[in-house]
Amino acid sequence: MSIKENILKIREEIEEAKSKVGRTDDVLLLAVTKTVDYGLIDESLEVGIEEIAENKVQELLKRMDHYEDRVKYHLIGSLQTNKVKNLMGRVKLIHSLDRLNLANEIDKRAKNAEIIQDVLIEVNAAKEESKAGIYLEDLDEFVYNILEHSNIRVRGLMTMAPFTDDEAILRETFRKVYEASERIKAKNYENIGMDYLSMGMTNDYKIAIEEGSNIIRVGTGIYGRRNY
Ligand SMILES: *Cc1c(COP(=O)(O)O)cnc(C)c1O
Repeated sequence: MSIKENILKIREEIEEAKSKVGRTDDVLLLAVTKTVDYGLIDESLEVGIEEIAENKVQELLKRMDHYEDRVKYHLIGSLQTNKVKNLMGRVKLIHSLDRLNLANEIDKRAKNAEIIQDVLIEVNAAKEESKAGIYLEDLDEFVYNILEHSNIRVRGLMTMAPFTDDEAILRETFRKVYEASERIKAKNYENIGMDYLSMGMTNDYKIAIEEGSNIIRVGTGIYGRRNY
C-alpha cells in the first residue's frame, strides 16, 4: 500500500473507533518519522499530515532544519536535561516529562526563552522496568510537585502500552491512564490541563481511541516497517 492509502485507512479506522464509543471530538494522527526518508515524509505531508514526531532530540532538530515551519514538531522519546535548551520555542509538545529534574530544567529554560512550554507527563502504567514514566500511584505527588513551575503547562498524559497482542491488557492499561487523567482534571489545578491523552501506536491505536486517546503516534502504519 502507498503512504496515501495507509493514511486514508488509518483515518477511516480512527472514525470507526470513535463512533464505536460515541465520540465526536478530534483525534490527532501524529506521524512518527524516525528513520524515514524525506521522500516518504513529503508524501505523507501531501495527504494532510501536519505534525511529526521523533524520539531523539538530534533527529527532531534535523527535521526542523529541513521542514522549518511547514509542520509542527513533537518529542516523544526520553529527554536528557542537557538537550532541553535546544528545543525551546521549537516544539509544540514534549510527550516525555518523566522526572522532576527534567521539569526543573524545562521550566528554567522556558523562562529564559520567555515561553510557556506545553508538556505531557509520561506514565508507566504497567510498571515495566524497561520503560520510562511515572507510576500511576506516584502521579498525584508528581503533579503536585510541578504546580509551581510557571513556565511549564501540563496538557495531559502520555503512555506506551506493554508490547502485547492481548487486547484485555492493552485496554486495561489505557483505561487506567484515562481514569488517572480524569482524576487529575477534577482537581482543577491552574497550570495542569488534561486536554490531551497521547496513547496508541500502530498496533493498538484503535483500542486506545476507544479508551479515550486523542493523540495517536503512528510510524509503521504510515511509512511501513523500518528497523528501530
Ligand atoms: C516509535 C514510536 C512510536 C510509533 O511506533 P509504531 O509502532 O511504528 O507506530 C510511537 N511512540 C513512541 C514513543 C515511539 O518511540
